[in-house]
Amino acid sequence: ATTGATKRICIVGAGPAGFYAAQYLLKQLSDCAVDIVEKLPVPFGLVRFGVAPDHPEVKNVINTFTKTAENPRLRFFGNVTLGTDVTLQELRDRYHAVLLTYGADQDRELQLANEEQPRIISARKFVAWYNGLPGAEQLQPDLSGRDVTVVGQGNVAVDVARMLLSPLDSLKLTDTTDYALEALASSKVERVHLVGRRGPLQAAFTIKELREMLKLPNVDTCWRPEDFTGIADQLDKLQRPRKRLTELMLKSLGEQSNRKGTPSIGKQFLPVFLRAPKAINQNEMEFAITELKNNAAVATEATERLPANLILRSIGYKSSCADAAINFDAQRGHVCNLQGRVLKDNSSKSVEPGLYVAGWLGTGPTGVILTTMNGAFAVAKTICDDIAAKSFDTDALKPGFEPANKSVVTWSGWNRIDQYERAVGKAKGKPREKIVTIQEMLRIAGV
Ligand code: FAD
Repeated sequence: ATTGATKRICIVGAGPAGFYAAQYLLKQLSDCAVDIVEKLPVPFGLVRFGVAPDHPEVKNVINTFTKTAENPRLRFFGNVTLGTDVTLQELRDRYHAVLLTYGADQDRELQLANEEQPRIISARKFVAWYNGLPGAEQLQPDLSGRDVTVVGQGNVAVDVARMLLSPLDSLKLTDTTDYALEALASSKVERVHLVGRRGPLQAAFTIKELREMLKLPNVDTCWRPEDFTGIADQLDKLQRPRKRLTELMLKSLGEQSNRKGTPSIGKQFLPVFLRAPKAINQNEMEFAITELKNNAAVATEATERLPANLILRSIGYKSSCADAAINFDAQRGHVCNLQGRVLKDNSSKSVEPGLYVAGWLGTGPTGVILTTMNGAFAVAKTICDDIAAKSFDTDALKPGFEPANKSVVTWSGWNRIDQYERAVGKAKGKPREKIVTIQEMLRIAGV
C-alpha cells in the first residue's frame, strides 16, 4: 500500500461519515493508510446529492474533505461498489479494519394502496433529481398541477417545498441541474401543503428552515389557527430551541391574521398538523385527523381530503444491505452494531473483529452533518483503541486492494471532473454544472 504504512484501513462510502472518520484516523494513527471505496465516480455523498442547492454554505465541508483526500496516505477508489465490484470478505482479507459508511439510499413507504404511480414520488428521488444523481434525470416529476402535498415535516420536506416555491431567478444561481431548472421554469405549482401527523409542538423542521420559508418572496405562509389552540400557554414549559421555533410559528400566525382581507401575493406554503395519511385518490389525498396521546398521533374516525396533483413522500430514508455477509437489520434499515462495532449476531452481542460502521448506515437516517461527524469521530477512535489493544488479528493479510476489470476513478480523476463542472457552471453564472451520467463522468475523469 501507500508510503509503507503498517496499518491498512478501508472505508466504504465517501460521504461525511467516511471522510470525517478518515480525517480522524490519518491524524491519530501515523502508521496507517486509508483507502476509500465509493460506488459513484464522484465523492461527498449527500453533501453533493442531498443538501439543497440553495444551501451552498453547508457544502463548505467539502473543503475539509478535500484536504483529507490530499493526504498522501489516502487513496480514493471511485466507481467501485461494495457487493458488486468487491465483496466484504475480499476487503476484510486485505485490510486490518473495514469501516462501512455507505449511508441510507432507500426510502420509507406510506404502505398505502395506489402508492406505486408516477404522481407519487419520494422526496429522496425528487432531491436526487434536482441535485443530479446519475439515473435521477429520468424522473420527470409532473409539475403541471396547482397543488403539491408533501407528506412529512422534516427538513427534507421543507427543502423540497422551498425548491418548488422559490423564485427561479435565485435557483439559477445555484448548482441545480439545468434539466430541473427547465422543468421548474414551466411549473404550474402554486400551493405546497406540508402535512404532519403530530402538532406544532412536535414539528420536525428546524427554525432555520422555517425562517427561510417565511422570507421567500411572493410566498404566503398560511397556518391553520385551529392547530395552535392552547399552544401559546405551553411556551414556558418548552426547551429553548423548541420554544424559539414555536414562538416563530405563533408570530407568523399573528402576521397572517393581520393580513386577513388582503389578497394573496402569489404562491402559498401551507403547513398542516395532526393529519395521518390514509388513502390516495385521484388528484387528492385523504388523511385521518389525529389526536395527540402521550405525544403520539392517534387516528380518529374523522378524515380530511387535501388537493394533491403531485404527492411527495418525505417520511425518511433507510439503508440497504450491500453484501450478504453484513449483519443487517432489514426491519430498522441499518447495520447491527454496538457503538460502531458490527455485531456478529444480535443475541450474543459478540462483535465482528475489525469490522465497523458509522454514519447513517449505523445510526439510522437522523441528524445533520455535525451529528454524523461526531459519530464518525467516535467510531474512528474505537478503531484506534482496538488496533492499539491488538483486539483482532492483524497478521496474514493479503496484499492491498486493486480492483480488477473496472474503471476506477482516482482523486485526480475526480479533480478533472470537478474542474470541468466548475468551468461549465462559471459560463452560466452557477457554482458548477454537475455531470449527470456515469458515462460522462468516466469520460471527463479520463478512465
Ligand atoms: P452519505 O452522505 O449518504 O454517504 C454515503 C456514501 O456511500 C455515498 O457517497 C454513496 O454513494 C456511497 N455508497 C452507497 N452504497 C455504496 C456501496 N455499495 N459501495 C460503495 N459506496 C457506496 N445535513 C446538514 O447538516 N445540513 C443540511 O442542509 C442537510 N441537508 C440534507 C438534505 C437531504 C435531502 C438529506 C437526505 C440529508 C441532509 N443532511 C443535511 C444530512 C446529511 O446529508 C447527513 O447527515 C450525511 O450526509 C450522512 O452521511 P453518511 O456518510 O452517513 O451518508
